[in-house]
Amino acid sequence: MPMTENFKERLFPSVEEIAAHYGTPFHIYDEAGIRKTGEELNELFSGIKGFREYYAVKALPNPEILKLMKSLGFGFDCSSIPELMLSRDIGACGDDIMFTSNNTAPHEFLAAEEQGGCILNLDDISLLSKVPKMPELISFRYNPGPRRTGNVIIGNPVEAKYGISHGQVVDAYRQARDLGAKRFGIHTMVASNELDYSYMVQTTVMLLELIAKVEKELGIRFEFINIGGGLGIPYKPEQQQLNVKAMAQEVTALFSEFEAEHGYAPRLYMESGRFITGPHGALVTKAINKKEIYRDYVGVDACMSALMRPALYEAYHHIDVPGKEGQHGHVVDVVGSLCENNDKFAVQRELPPIEDGDLLVIHDTGAHGHAMGFNYNGRLRPQELMLRTDGTVELIRREETVEDHFATLSFEAKSFKPAGK
Ligand SMILES: *Cc1c(COP(=O)(O)O)cnc(C)c1O
Repeated sequence: MPMTENFKERLFPSVEEIAAHYGTPFHIYDEAGIRKTGEELNELFSGIKGFREYYAVKALPNPEILKLMKSLGFGFDCSSIPELMLSRDIGACGDDIMFTSNNTAPHEFLAAEEQGGCILNLDDISLLSKVPKMPELISFRYNPGPRRTGNVIIGNPVEAKYGISHGQVVDAYRQARDLGAKRFGIHTMVASNELDYSYMVQTTVMLLELIAKVEKELGIRFEFINIGGGLGIPYKPEQQQLNVKAMAQEVTALFSEFEAEHGYAPRLYMESGRFITGPHGALVTKAINKKEIYRDYVGVDACMSALMRPALYEAYHHIDVPGKEGQHGHVVDVVGSLCENNDKFAVQRELPPIEDGDLLVIHDTGAHGHAMGFNYNGRLRPQELMLRTDGTVELIRREETVEDHFATLSFEAKSFKPAGK
């Protein structure tokens, strides 16, 4: 079931009032739901010493959300300088941050090194000579290639630009050790939005086997394995929840076996974004137009600047019309105002009868929602609100203004005529 019943029960009775107070559209996030998911994850994996979730900042890069993650004991998975800045601004430093960048530029490595540094998770062996200073703790991103078939969003690992190949693993750690690294980790991310937990169990098996092999060849021990993000959420009503409990049990058992055999076990790190915040966010938008041509359309006041996933991945986001649940209407496309025909939140969806002024709640926008928004066609991004545990609704990001949009057009005039040859 998309969007938890608990979130619905607390949002729907007040949604008209919230919309009247703040105006539409807005993304709204459920503090109670995020906390519950975070606490459950910590609890389920508490059998593994040193388990830590590094929240994937790109999923929902808002300081109030990141503070919540910090209070859960989570670290931060960053892959850009602004993500590093956001994490450090709320007090993360050193091993609280994992920098999983790819195609990294020199100034990004310099930024990663600042303010107490972070865990560097290198995307390629060639980057060893490009890091400004070899850190004590180093990790590589591993791409298993044909050893694993990727899932739908992330695709086939052979075609993925990320990570070092299987054949490079031993050499990568040998070179890192020879350059002065003393502590080691390994990372992979081979799934996205995966609902079959056995996939994550297989990833754990794969990494534990790999570190045993590297230890045997090089005599180095691994401090952590990071199995990535990619834990799925059910966007469609008929989909089942990911069985995290079974996943935790099987992964914990693998760690116990490893410890029995090797006399130690690494820590387990994870870097989920979607699983932590995805179902605990919703986009609330108002119906403003209806039209009937070859198909019937409901036009709303949000567009793909607020949520790209349907256009980008043909992703399904469930839609409710509070107060009209269960009513039978007809099949419509729910559209935004962008001059792109894929600016649709729903395609040929049966929804209750919708009138101008009705609010639509688009589910599961708590990850890769607002953050993915863009300004094509001069369309601005909406505000973000937080529904606090005590029922207070707090503005945690204002909507974009035309001034924000034109900010990059205000600069000192410059011109230059190349001399040519
Ligand atoms: C995007 C990303 C994640 C988070 O993915 P989810 O599907 O939100 O769990 C984690 N790690 C890396 C390296 C990523 O690029």
